[in-house]
Amino acid sequence: MKTLIKNGLVLLYDESGWRYEKKDILINGNRMEKIDPDLQEAGCTLIDATDHLVMPGLINAHTHAYMTIHRNYADDLMFFDWLEKVQRVEDGMTEEDIYWTTLLAIIEMIRSGTTCFVDMTIKSAQEKSGPKSAVAGAVAESGLRAVISRGLAGVADSEESIMKFGQAVREMEMFRDESRIQFIHGPHAPYSCMADYLQKLTQSCKERGIRQTIHLSESQAEMDGMAKEHGTTPIQYVDSVGVFDVPTIAAHCVYATDEDIRIMAEKGVSVAICPKSNMKLGNGFSPAMKMLDAGINVCLGTDGCGSNNSLNMFSEMTAAGLVYKGANRQSPCVDAADVLKMVTVNGAKAIGREDELGIIREGAIADLILVNLNEPQFIPANNIISGLVYSSKGSEIDTVLVDGKVLMENGKLTTIDENKVYDECRKITARLDM
Ligand SMILES: [Zn+2]
Repeated sequence: MKTLIKNGLVLLYDESGWRYEKKDILINGNRMEKIDPDLQEAGCTLIDATDHLVMPGLINAHTHAYMTIHRNYADDLMFFDWLEKVQRVEDGMTEEDIYWTTLLAIIEMIRSGTTCFVDMTIKSAQEKSGPKSAVAGAVAESGLRAVISRGLAGVADSEESIMKFGQAVREMEMFRDESRIQFIHGPHAPYSCMADYLQKLTQSCKERGIRQTIHLSESQAEMDGMAKEHGTTPIQYVDSVGVFDVPTIAAHCVYATDEDIRIMAEKGVSVAICPKSNMKLGNGFSPAMKMLDAGINVCLGTDGCGSNNSLNMFSEMTAAGLVYKGANRQSPCVDAADVLKMVTVNGAKAIGREDELGIIREGAIADLILVNLNEPQFIPANNIISGLVYSSKGSEIDTVLVDGKVLMENGKLTTIDENKVYDECRKITARLDM
């Protein structure tokens, strides 16, 4: 099946930076076959991109999709009070609840131009018989792309952690043939995983040739706890037990020290900064400028809806573009082009897919979004890169393709019954008495 996107302004990237040019894109199957001005092709599906920017779909490098249930629920609290309130709700959630709340997340992501997300489901399955794979199931049905992990915690030889590890591995096997789903391990954090469990998961990554993701140095309390217990920082602690021996996406790193940054640069760790979540929970700002200077691959995540409260990556880009200017009291320290890279090129690199995702080029996978430039946020169109970061709301996205397939066309979702999902989520919050 072939699709031709015609008359759009196409966002391109190479070492010299971003540029946009009037081009057509011919998609064959799930890949971009030809990118040229004025392409003609008979017998293919036509998408008219007049007055639109065609750009790579955004990559959310850190979230917890099922946490949409917590949206606007546990706000304006101290970190550990927030955690307690969130966990109380999660204790009552079933796998089916996770399925519906993940679909709610997916609707928001498609509508705001995210085509791939790195997920960690901390809430574990209730059933010991095996995973129902609620997150993977929702992703598979919706057509979106995801990098999925289970948030694992504990000691290696406890009954519960052995069971959860088994679920994670079985889930990987179950969805082995689903090309849009990539599995990684998700040790939750150094304060919730003992060293032997971190090592077991790292070894499993090596055996399976997969990556892992972990929360690191998110709060002052975490820093204090690790200093007291291990006499070091969370980042240096996980490095000392070998976590960084496999490609790792470290979420947050708000309190990363200069030595932490040097180690992460040396070990090729990607860092998913989550500025809105970090601000919302009163944790501060990660030293992203220092990380970029050290050559770290910095990407951007929303974190879950319990601490954001949205999964809109355009809103996250605005935050990332502004907070460092404010915090450093100088404007040029990060520019719009840097921020745009975080959600495209750098996000793809973090998941090991930089040759085929996060970029528009012949041969790459067709994960594309169409941005309607005929909106006040983009008029006048002095600088569209700035517009994407500083003035866009994400609501200008009207068409989304993932793996060459249309998931939203002219604002209408093609794979999900939105009202059904909203109804089911309302029922869940009523049942959980939220
Ligand atoms: Zn998180």
